[in-house]
Amino acid sequence: MDCQRVLERFPENATAGRWALLPTILRMGSRTHWQSISLTPLPLCSIPMPKTVKGTGIMHFAKALIGALLIAVSTNAQNFRLPLNVIPSHYDIEVQVKLDPAEDFTFSGIVSINFTCVEATDTVVIHNYNLTVDEANVVLQARDESGTSVGIDRHEYEWDYAKFQTIFLTESLVAGHDYRLTIPYSGTHLEPTSSRALYPCFDEPGLKATFSITVGHTNKYQAFTNMPLTSSAVDPDPPNIIWDYHETTVVMSPYLVAIIVGDFTRVPTSDPRQFILVRDEVTNLTGDAAVFAPAILNEMETRLSTPFPLPKLDHAGLVGFSGGMENYGLIFYNEDEVARSDGSASLTLMAHETSHMWTGNLVTCQWWDVAWLNEGMTHFFTYFIAEKIDRKFPYFDKLGTEMMDKAMGYDFKPSALPMVIPIIQPNDISNAFGGDLIYKRGGNIGRMMYYLLGEEVLIEGMKNYFADNQFKSVTEEHLFTALNNAAEAAGLELEYSVSELISPFTNQAGYPLVNVTNTGVKEDGKSVYKVSQVNYDTVTWNKILDALKVSRKTFPNTNVAAIISDGLQLCRLNLVDPDVCKRFPEKLRNERSLIVWLTAAKNLHTAIANAADTTAELTRIKKIVKKAEFNVMRSREVMTPEHESLLDLLRNFSKHLEGPNATRSYISSHEAFWDKIFEDKEQDLKMQFSHHKIGTVLETAAYREESETISQEFRLPTKIIPSHYDVDIVAKLDPDENFTFFGTVDIFFTCVEATDSIILHNWLLLVDEANVLLQDQSGNLLNIDHHEYDWDYAEFQKIFLVDPLELGNNYKLTIPYAGNMSSVPSGLWYGSYVGDQGSVEYFAGTQHGTVSTRAVFPCFDEPAFKATFRISVGHHSKYSAFSNMPLVETIPHPDLSDYVTDYFEISPVMSTYIVAIVIGDYTRVPTDDPKQFVLVRDEITGLTGDAVNYVPDILREMEARFLIPYPLPKLDHAGLIGFGGGMENYGLILYVEDGIASEEGKANLELLTHEIAHMWAGNLVTCEWWDVSWLNEGMTEFFTFLIAGFVDTTYPYMDLLATRLMEVGMDYDSDSSALPLVVPINEPADIDQNAFNGPLIYYRGGAIGGVIYQLLGDQAFLAGIQTYFAQHMFQTVREEDLFLALNTAAEEAGLGLEYSVADLISPFTNQAGVPLVTVTNTGVKENGKSVYTVSQRRLLNVMNNEHNDDTLWPIVLTWATSSAPDFEDKTPKAYLTEASMTVTIAGDDDWVLFNNKRSGYYRVNYDTVTWTKILDALENAGNPFPDTNIAAVISDALELCLLGLVDPDVCDRIPNTLGNQTSLFVWISAVRNLHKSIARAADEVAELNRIKEIVNRAEFDTSMRTRKESMPDDQHKKLLNLLKDFKHHLEGSNAANTFISLDEELRNKRLQQQQKDMIRRISHDEHS
Ligand SMILES: [Zn+2]
Repeated sequence: MDCQRVLERFPENATAGRWALLPTILRMGSRTHWQSISLTPLPLCSIPMPKTVKGTGIMHFAKALIGALLIAVSTNAQNFRLPLNVIPSHYDIEVQVKLDPAEDFTFSGIVSINFTCVEATDTVVIHNYNLTVDEANVVLQARDESGTSVGIDRHEYEWDYAKFQTIFLTESLVAGHDYRLTIPYSGTHLEPTSSRALYPCFDEPGLKATFSITVGHTNKYQAFTNMPLTSSAVDPDPPNIIWDYHETTVVMSPYLVAIIVGDFTRVPTSDPRQFILVRDEVTNLTGDAAVFAPAILNEMETRLSTPFPLPKLDHAGLVGFSGGMENYGLIFYNEDEVARSDGSASLTLMAHETSHMWTGNLVTCQWWDVAWLNEGMTHFFTYFIAEKIDRKFPYFDKLGTEMMDKAMGYDFKPSALPMVIPIIQPNDISNAFGGDLIYKRGGNIGRMMYYLLGEEVLIEGMKNYFADNQFKSVTEEHLFTALNNAAEAAGLELEYSVSELISPFTNQAGYPLVNVTNTGVKEDGKSVYKVSQVNYDTVTWNKILDALKVSRKTFPNTNVAAIISDGLQLCRLNLVDPDVCKRFPEKLRNERSLIVWLTAAKNLHTAIANAADTTAELTRIKKIVKKAEFNVMRSREVMTPEHESLLDLLRNFSKHLEGPNATRSYISSHEAFWDKIFEDKEQDLKMQFSHHKIGTVLETAAYREESETISQEFRLPTKIIPSHYDVDIVAKLDPDENFTFFGTVDIFFTCVEATDSIILHNWLLLVDEANVLLQDQSGNLLNIDHHEYDWDYAEFQKIFLVDPLELGNNYKLTIPYAGNMSSVPSGLWYGSYVGDQGSVEYFAGTQHGTVSTRAVFPCFDEPAFKATFRISVGHHSKYSAFSNMPLVETIPHPDLSDYVTDYFEISPVMSTYIVAIVIGDYTRVPTDDPKQFVLVRDEITGLTGDAVNYVPDILREMEARFLIPYPLPKLDHAGLIGFGGGMENYGLILYVEDGIASEEGKANLELLTHEIAHMWAGNLVTCEWWDVSWLNEGMTEFFTFLIAGFVDTTYPYMDLLATRLMEVGMDYDSDSSALPLVVPINEPADIDQNAFNGPLIYYRGGAIGGVIYQLLGDQAFLAGIQTYFAQHMFQTVREEDLFLALNTAAEEAGLGLEYSVADLISPFTNQAGVPLVTVTNTGVKENGKSVYTVSQRRLLNVMNNEHNDDTLWPIVLTWATSSAPDFEDKTPKAYLTEASMTVTIAGDDDWVLFNNKRSGYYRVNYDTVTWTKILDALENAGNPFPDTNIAAVISDALELCLLGLVDPDVCDRIPNTLGNQTSLFVWISAVRNLHKSIARAADEVAELNRIKEIVNRAEFDTSMRTRKESMPDDQHKKLLNLLKDFKHHLEGSNAANTFISLDEELRNKRLQQQQKDMIRRISHDEHS
């Protein structure tokens, strides 16, 4: 069973997870109910596990039960094992499952147990938990010819502690005789959260027997159990009941019995014995599972030479089930583990449960004290086997690093238990399934034996172990003996037996620290080291670290991980010289092993905790992580799945370090963790490690912080200015030619300041230095001295000249070069697809994003260095080539047969990052606009319907509003497989293929609009440097919403801007680590990580665009934008240029703003954070108007908003009241420029609501009376608030309530106001924020239930309203889907305790996805 996974996945809800393990999960509300019954041993699944449960997530009933147990323990100690005077051999089980709400999901059955009396007794003790026994019909008979009945006096039940049913007999059973006990019984209410046994039984793992199982159910369903069906019979009474009879099992423990009843389909695998069993709806998602199952079983069977003994093995995916459960022949998994929405499955979980078919099922631990023989050995086999199947991930290394670290983290505590655990009372059995101890530490003991004996001997020993003990139960001596025999047979000369070497590790808690000290003494030319219970002396540590630096490749990854992990841990305990300690994090800078980073990410906090200056150390580690990320990202090695995992890890880690958790809870929570350990300890931990500091004074290792050697010089000098490029590239789009390319670039430039070197960008392009030519304007050649390259940091090629270039002269630089195409979208990359004829087809494209043009041709690769480009592309004649400009001519290549060269027109002036090339078998689909085409591979031209319709409209709407025609002669919209998002190359936009040609011919309007808007914002007028990337991306995001609303008038995109963009921005900004919109670019990695940060640059940037638009109004805003584009076309800009153009337009329109646009907006772009405006009715009246104070303060996600950040913004105040409810009026009513001011508002009993249509970027709080008036109005069905304001009220209130800034009574009302909301946008906002209401509630479960009801009602109302009102179809459908998804989310089996964390997880995932897109130089964010 995989209880450990339960804990990992649902840490706050471990108890509930286990309860759910046992019997039933009912899918209510759908046509099907299904029920699975897994007879997990009662003690395991009926007893909560307080020791492993963290926090306060234990459900109430579990708490009550713990209380009961504690009482029971004192009175009934130790008496919970079966007496073993009778031994069962066979069970006949007949169960009828009433899978019907009308019958309350009850079940009833008859169990007949054959047993042998081995010691005379007049009682039979058996396990029974909450089953009602039909006592009058219990029969006990002798199993001989006589069949004599044995009289029964009475039954007693004890359900609190041992869970025994004791049957008192009127006479004694006779030793040596066989009996048969028949018990009719019933059970009620199979609820998912309470566990009941399904049949009375002798429920200990050692008491194995055979089982014949018969299941009765209605004809709607099918039943599955451990063994194949033999026959079915219809029962005339009661009608419609089918009885399914199954083959008798092999000998097995009672906890492995399993039954499923429901509407399921068996998906076959290539192994005729194995099936993936899932509900009908998800059979098409079982792709991976159907591949994994035969592979895993085959590996186990062939490696262990022991066949799987059952005739069939079903892998059942069950909704709501947690983790996995290894029932013999019928394994249960959470449905998601075997049928994810993308058809993937969990290889490790499947390997784990399948391994159990041997370790656990075939050979079973005799009692739970040696549960590690089941779980630890299974954990070992899981990683051993997974690596054989999926060679892309070093699973086995993961066991020895991440898992070992966790185990050591457990063992490190003084409270650690030995792996052979004491079981003194029933709830000690929970310790037998402790994740870190039994699974991870146990798995590592398996790994230790593997390395001790070698693979061959270990496997041989395991074969013997299985052969000798099959269908039996064992203690650890059985395992050690089998392994020892194998070691001896193989002639391994171990000085000690396996048992002597291993059992101290299984029977003692803790782990040893080995100290290695160089004594300085030599004997026979060898150094003498003192080894004590791995720490090293300082000299040795420095040597190891030096060696790591020089020859990293000679160290296996697991050892490097161990060095980092041991080193950091020992440093934390002051057992290592502080100068050595500083070096450990540095080792990671160039590290590319996933395993090493997994370990590092778990341990680096110790370096922070240990530092004198924690902030400085955090900063240092941040830089190291960023550098590592940068190195991996820019590596031209083929991106393996391991690399991708590593990138994900580094990005998450980076994010983690930058989040609020870094500065506050990251360090402090880890500190708390350490403090707790130190508190717990009774003696000085240092003593436990019996360490001696090395007495010798040693020279401090020559330690140079590598980061200091990194130059900050990564910007190009401005001494020479390029004006034109001729780029000639020949692409070998052919696997036989290794996807290489070569080319020549001629760069025409002017020298504006004398210099004797030319510095330009080149990344990993191999230059033919001998043929690099530099000519002056008269055609004279200048001498080149030498070339230098910096490919690690600035990505420069430096050309040193013999004589300096002269000011004012023009030159031409010619560079012949060659490179490799990338297999991921970066630089010039290639991809493939399977064509109509089944052959593999290749294509190539560029993805320059921000800094990858330099990987295609040497160039001055900064946005401000605009130039014209004439491009030619050589390629095989079977392909076509496309570039930014139209084709001029195609001529045969002079040197390469079958190759042609396509020459394209000269481009207008543009930045390097929007140069583009596409090569492949592509077709141009025309649109209504003769300039525009949709460019896709031949096979899918039929799917471009929407894109073909959209793009003329989008371009037309933009040209009409910007009043500057699109300046290029053509615009291709190309869809490429494997691309992410979109990239706005001038004249040749690239998109992910299904963004413009998906199955129903659909296209993503937002994505298309975004990229086309870039033709002006970004391409025509370009940010001068990436610090003001928001002028490209933020403004484009704003135009996306503005223009998409004109193209698709059924959907109010501007409302979406006010909800989605605003709120993502505000969430980002309420973190103390938030950056300003004008971002710092201090090093190359900041370009991607800061200048293309999704929530900041796209969302918050787009929201600021919206704020300016609302401030100026449509006309003045567009007039300003027209000027801005017209004045700066083909140039680059800073934000002052935008503000000035807009301000002039505002003045010309006579808007009468008291401040300039720059004064009002630049504090929002140059300061981080979002303001909270607090409105308080003073109760004072002036001239019949109410006096309100209005104050501002930065809103941070800290309780009560208590912090020291005194940032102020110039805030434009707008408001509406019940007597003047004009929300469309967004002209400033007042400007809040100081911390506080007063305003007077007419209307006595009026409600007042600030921030009309959320035109300002701020949240609003009110005094309690004002909040109450607002909510009264809001609950009134005819309320006058626009959707954007309702969304703002709900979102603001939920956030502020969570931070303790609003009266609790007001807070309690907020979710109710959603009751009559039918707006998609209100709900989008609510769904993002409702978890906050649960988080702040005293009773989270009650609050969850309340929210469920509200959502249910809204969903019901929405679907009813469909028929009555005419809502725009699309919106309505989206709302229904949103509510359905949300409902599903809330009803998940663990919603009660995990909703909040899940929600966080979802959001993190979203961010992660965004970052993933970003990093691939996609200048476009996710558009869903
Ligand atoms: Zn963009």
